[in-house]
Amino acid sequence: MDLKGKVALVTGGSRGIGRATCLALAEEHCSVGVNYNANEAAAEEVVEQLKKLGVDAQAFRADVSDRAQAKALIAAMMERFGRIDVLVNNAGITRDKSFLKMTPEQWSEVLLVNLNGPFNITSALLPQMVERQWGRIINITSIVAQMGNFGQANYAVAKGGLIAFTKTLAREVARRGVTVNAVAPGFIETDMTSDVPDEVLDVVCKLTPMARLGKPEEVARAVRFLAAPQASFITGQVININGGMYM
Ligand code: NAD
Repeated sequence: MDLKGKVALVTGGSRGIGRATCLALAEEHCSVGVNYNANEAAAEEVVEQLKKLGVDAQAFRADVSDRAQAKALIAAMMERFGRIDVLVNNAGITRDKSFLKMTPEQWSEVLLVNLNGPFNITSALLPQMVERQWGRIINITSIVAQMGNFGQANYAVAKGGLIAFTKTLAREVARRGVTVNAVAPGFIETDMTSDVPDEVLDVVCKLTPMARLGKPEEVARAVRFLAAPQASFITGQVININGGMYM
């Protein structure tokens, strides 16, 4: 799984699954650009940890939902590292409400970050990957895209769109040396799930054969696997990491 000499961009890399992914990639000697939206201190802490692992790393502020900022992020990373081999579209948000109560703003905000975000970043980067005839794109989707979930119509649609995007883009660039895959986590212990009421998490555990939540590292290891040169014949796939909750 050696990623020596490769450079990765992880969006939303300052905490949770993104942070664990940055560290997992660095363990295999991959240099990392850590994108963050607001929390500079957290991003700098990740950069420090990455440097301790012996890789080159830098934090880059950008709101992925803003096309101009996404373009500027890719340009800044290209200037700093000269290449981007691995893209992990990880940044995501939730704005949960039952559909009867969901506002147009809650609908749009989630789509803008979770679906337009990957569009903005990927479209700014893809020509460079195609030109170099090598690339790994890994989109973080969700079990919610596969099963639906009460209060998450906006999120399920965005993550379902991301699966459709993954499969379509995989077909379009398959002969250009670029693979495109998705990872679909179940319920993982991060800030995103910290607000979920305990009684809901109890139900989640009851519905999960492994009877527990996942850890960010358990998702990150699958992302790292897909990023590696060895994963060369895997494209258009959705890898489920959910303790068996959805099979
Ligand atoms: P998290 O809230 O800890 O991390 C999300 C990250 O995205 C944060 O660092 C946040 O700052 C960043 N972000 C949000 N909006 C952004 C924007 N506009 N531009 C740039 N960065 C932005 O949550 P997490 O659980 O680590 O989530 C990571 C990804 O995994 C998300 O896409 C999420 O939807 C997905 N996911 C999480 C779970 C789970 O149970 N935690 C399950 C399935 C999928």
